[in-house]
Amino acid sequence: MISVQNVSKIYTTKSLTVPAVHDVSLEVDPGEFVVITGRSGSGKTTLLSLVAGLTRPTSGQVLLDGVAVWSLPDKDQSLLRNDKIGFVFQFPSLLPALTSLENVMLPAMFGGKRNGGVQERATHLLTQVGLADKLRSFPRQLSGGQQQRVVIARALMNEPELLLADEPTSDLDEMTEHEIMSLFREIHQNTRVTVLLVTHSVELGQFGTRSIQMAGGRIVS
Ligand code: ADP
Ligand code: MG
Repeated sequence: MISVQNVSKIYTTKSLTVPAVHDVSLEVDPGEFVVITGRSGSGKTTLLSLVAGLTRPTSGQVLLDGVAVWSLPDKDQSLLRNDKIGFVFQFPSLLPALTSLENVMLPAMFGGKRNGGVQERATHLLTQVGLADKLRSFPRQLSGGQQQRVVIARALMNEPELLLADEPTSDLDEMTEHEIMSLFREIHQNTRVTVLLVTHSVELGQFGTRSIQMAGGRIVS
C-alpha cells in the first residue's frame, strides 16, 4: 500500500537547513494499522505529509499502490489523494457554517466515488461514529471529541484505502483520547482500511497492529 524508499526531507529557510526526515524507509501492507510515535520535532508530521504527497521529498520516493506520487501531474495527484486517502488532523478542521451532515458530505462533492446516495452514506458514517443524534448540529455545538468523530466520518466518506491521522487526539482529555483511538481500531477492524496514525504518545502504540518509533527524523525501532 505504502512504500517509502530512502526518503529524506530537508527544509531550507534563509538562515538554516533543517533535516526533518532522514533516509527513512517504510513498507506498510494493505490492512495494517501502523502507529508512529515519537517526540515533538521527531519528523512525524513531515513523514505523514510525504506519504500523503503533500510534501515533495528532497530525495528518495514514495509509492502508493506502486505509483510514485510525484511522478504524476498535479491534477492526477489531487485526484489520487481525494480518491484514495482520508485525512484526520490534530485540530478538527470542520467548516463552522455547515452541519455535521454537510461537513461529512463535502468530500463527495469533489468527484469522489458515488456508491448510493451521498446523504445516506454520510448519515450512516455519522451513526457509525456514534453521532446519530448530532446530524444537524454545527461544530460549535459539539465537544472536541465529537468534532473529531465528525472529521473521522468525513475522512471515510470517499471510502479511502488509506486513512492518515496526525495526532488526532492530542487536543483531547485522556478518556476521550482512548475513545477516539478505540474508534480508529473499530473502523480498522470493520473496513480493513489501512491506517497510518502518528502521535507523540508512546502509550497509544498499543492501539495499532504495529508500532514504530521515530527520533531525530529517523525510524529507531
Ligand atoms: P513532529 O510532527 O514529530 O513534531 P515535524 O515533522 O513537524 O515533527 O518537524 C520535524 C522538524 O522539521 C522540526 O525540527 C521542525 O521544526 C522542522 N520543520 C517542520 N516543518 C517545517 C517547515 N515547513 N519549515 C522548516 N522547518 C520545518
Ligand atoms: Mg507533528
